[in-house]
Formats: sequence, C-alpha cells, structure tokens
Amino acid sequence: MKKQIAILGSTGSIGTQALQVIEEHPDLYEAYALTANNRVDMLIEQARKFQPEVVVIANEEKYLYLKEALSDLPIKVYAGADAICQVVQEKSVDIVLTAMVGYAGLRPTMAAIRARKVIALANKETMVVAGELINALANEYQTPILPVDSEHSAIFQCLEMQNSLEKIILTASGGPFRTFTMEQLQHVTKEQALKHPNWSMGAKITVDSASMMNKGFEVIEAKWLFGLKPEQIEVVVHPQSVIHSMVEFEDGAVKAQLGVPDMRLPIQYAFSYPQRVRSSFDRLDFMKCNNLTFEAPDTNRFRNLALAYEALNQGGNMPCIVNAANEVVVAAFLKDQISFLGMSDVIEQCMQRVPFIQVPTYENYVSTDAETRRIAAEIVINQMK
Ligand code: NDP
Ligand code: MG
Repeated sequence: MKKQIAILGSTGSIGTQALQVIEEHPDLYEAYALTANNRVDMLIEQARKFQPEVVVIANEEKYLYLKEALSDLPIKVYAGADAICQVVQEKSVDIVLTAMVGYAGLRPTMAAIRARKVIALANKETMVVAGELINALANEYQTPILPVDSEHSAIFQCLEMQNSLEKIILTASGGPFRTFTMEQLQHVTKEQALKHPNWSMGAKITVDSASMMNKGFEVIEAKWLFGLKPEQIEVVVHPQSVIHSMVEFEDGAVKAQLGVPDMRLPIQYAFSYPQRVRSSFDRLDFMKCNNLTFEAPDTNRFRNLALAYEALNQGGNMPCIVNAANEVVVAAFLKDQISFLGMSDVIEQCMQRVPFIQVPTYENYVSTDAETRRIAAEIVINQMK
C-alpha cells in the first residue's frame, strides 16, 4: 500500500522537495492533498502533475480561479484555513507533512494529531509556540511526531532506544553574517540576509537563519521533541553544514549524522521511518570535507539566540510571544521597514510588554499571538516615524 501524504505548504521550499521525494518513489508514496496560500498557479501545476485527491488554497480570494483551472480533473478543491484542518483528518491520509510557514501551522497540526495521523514536522513554529500542548495532545492520541528539520532528524537518527542521552549538540551554519562585526550588522540589507551560504529555503526561515533566531527556535523545538532540559542543548557553529547534529550519551560517546545539505533526505526519512529507502541524492565525498570547523555562537552579536534561551527558561507563553514578534519583525525587515539589529529590540520589548502566562491554554496562545502581533506592529510603526 502506498502511503498517502498530505503536504501542507506544497508550493514552498520543503513542499516542492517533498514532491521530488514522492516523484522518486511512485511505488511508495502518493500525494493525497496539496495546500498553498497564494501561489495558485504553482499549485495548479502541481495538481495537474501529481493528481492529488484534494487541493486547498488558504487564501479564499483565489478559490474560483483554482476551481476553474482544475475543473476538467476529478480533484476536490477547497479554500480557507478550516478546510486545511479538515483535509488532514480524511480517512485515507497516512502522513501529514507540516511544511507551511509560521503560526498558521499550529491549528492543522493539532487537527492532524487528533486524527492520529503521523506528523512529519517541518513547521517548527508549532513546537516553538505550543510545544507543551502539542506533546500532551500527541501523548493523548498516541500520535508520532517525526522531525523533518535537518538537525532534529539527525538527532532522531542518532538516538538509541535503551540509552538516555546526556546532551545534544545542535550544529548551526552561522548564516551569511557569521563573521560580521556589530558595525557591519547595523547596515545589512534584506538582499544580503536572503543569501544563505549552504541552504536554499523560504524567505522567512532564511532571515531567521541569518539572525540566528532559527537556531533559537530549533533549541526550543529540540526540548519538546526529545524531552530535554535547556542545559542539555548546546549550539555549536559549524559553517560547512556537513554534520547535521550530534548526540552525546552518558558514557561520553558522541554520535553524529552527516550528509550533504539536502532537505530531501530528512523529508524522505520521515516518510519511510522506521525503514530507510534507496535514494539518488548526492553522496558525501570525504575527500572534499578536509576542513570541518567548529566555534561557539556569539550571543552578543546574535541576541536572538539568547532571547530564545531566555524564553525557553521562562516557559509558559514566552516562546509564543517571541515567535509572534519575530514573524512581525521579519515581515517588516523584508519590507525595509526595520533594520536587521532592530528586530531583536522589538522582540525583547514584546517579551517585556505582553502579559506572561505560566500555564497557557490553547485560547491563551491564540490571544498571546494576536496581542503580540499588535504590540510588535505598533513598535515597528513608531520606530519608522
Ligand atoms: P516557504 O516560504 O518556502 O513555503 C511556505 C509554504 O507555506 C508555502 O507553500 C506557502 O504557500 C504556505 N503558506 C504560507 N502561509 C500560509 C498560511 N497562512 N496558510 C497556509 N499555507 C501557508 O517556507 P519553507 O518551505 O522554507 O519552510 C516551511 C516550514 O518548514 C517553516 O516552518 C520552516 O521553518 C520549516 N523548515 C524549512 C526548512 C527549509 O529548508 N526550507 C528546513 C527546516 C525547517 P504560498 O507558496 O502559496 O505562499
Ligand atoms: Mg534546521
């Protein structure tokens, strides 16, 4: 039986690579559902090629255009965020790949967990915003959450059933500004930030990588995925991105997972787990890896990483506040409304201003997200004056 996969965010970087994995293994996987937000023409093209059972466009204004374009095919066409939540619950779906960006991933992930679908989790924001709630839900419904993020997939691949780990070492490329001084960081542009040295990704996560917020989020994601204390999560800058992350066991042994930087591998592993399946992806050539280097992250220049650890230590709705503020400032940075370093200032102010809730409910997360976005937008506008 082919595994039926719902790809949430099929038009994005992870989504298109997931479709390449499906294309490589037509005997194993089938795209059951494809969803997007705005890029309707790409969604139409994908639907024609992969013939899914259903497509959903989150932006309801594009519904008629999409419906018309696919009217000659037996594909169900829906629109809106609620429809995405419904589609993931359909009986035939085996795996839900959460490859949409941002807070929008939270609700459909919760719906998929309740429907007991295997979650291939790319959307790390869900774990950042509400990791505790997601874990409780996954426990209640006995739903597996398999990591797609390359670092977390690496750790997952290194784990040993019988042995508890002492700590994990998350590797970070350091992004395009790794060697920049504070003075240089003050003037970086979005064009520079959007050029990641090792990975080609969506705009938001590329900016997050440049600002090290991505690594901060991955620390929080790791806490919830692997049940760790903050002090068990270490970040090491490794600019070559060959080691995707490491696990240290109680006896001091360290296991690492290595490979060329290619997201198709962790995506495929989440689809094929617990098996591995043959792939045609590039192999690592050790003769070309004669310079693997490691250094400590600098949280003075990259304050976001320190802010993420602070949010993790405070717990409650604090990571949700950081996530929402970050989504606002990244969007503002991409519109040239705020400077690169200004992003951390706004996030820090939101952490101080938005009411703290130690044990949030789902409704608390929703209101925290909305309130933080309002305050962050207000600070950005005031700064522009
Ligand atoms: P992209 O920006 O490339 O793609 C995002 C996808 O989500 C698109 O299909 C987009 O649709 C859709 N989308 C955006 N907003 C909404 C919304 N409100 N409702 C429904 N769908 C929406 O992002 P990436 O693929 O780079 O990243 C996706 C997720 O995976 C992120 O959470 C990221 O952190 C994570 N991730 C990504 C990695 C990578 O290598 N790219 C690595 C590790 C994790 P449309 O195209 O129509 O706008
Ligand atoms: Mg990652």
